[in-house]
Amino acid sequence: MSAARKRECACHSGKAYTACCKPYHDGVALPPTPEALMRSRYAAFALGLGPYLVQTLAEGHADTGMAPGALALELSRVKDRRRFLGLTVHSSAEDGDVGEVHFSARVFEKGADISFSERSTFVREEGAWRYLSGEMGPYAPAEG
Ligand SMILES: [Zn+2]
Repeated sequence: MSAARKRECACHSGKAYTACCKPYHDGVALPPTPEALMRSRYAAFALGLGPYLVQTLAEGHADTGMAPGALALELSRVKDRRRFLGLTVHSSAEDGDVGEVHFSARVFEKGADISFSERSTFVREEGAWRYLSGEMGPYAPAEG
């Protein structure tokens, strides 16, 4: 199939990158749901798109203590030591301008398995979904 020749999206949706997260990364479209934003952030980590990861943080996101430029550079470099091997979304819900997504991410750092699950909270600011906070737990891809 010709689709196999297309570059698959780094969020592991199985779709071509151009038909998945690329329009969000390029800034030509906004992720319509908290889940779409979460997927695009996972893909951005895998691709080293630090500025996108900074842009999609909510205003109320815990202060990292870093200037946005330095934070973007730091986030861009995460891909140099980590491999993003899988993403499973267990549930996603939105209520007005608040959304929650529960997912499991398969991630390796220098050969070590650092996979995790997370319940992320998203908020919509000026029409755009952004990442507010997350609660991490043990990796449980089979969990419903
Ligand atoms: Zn994607």
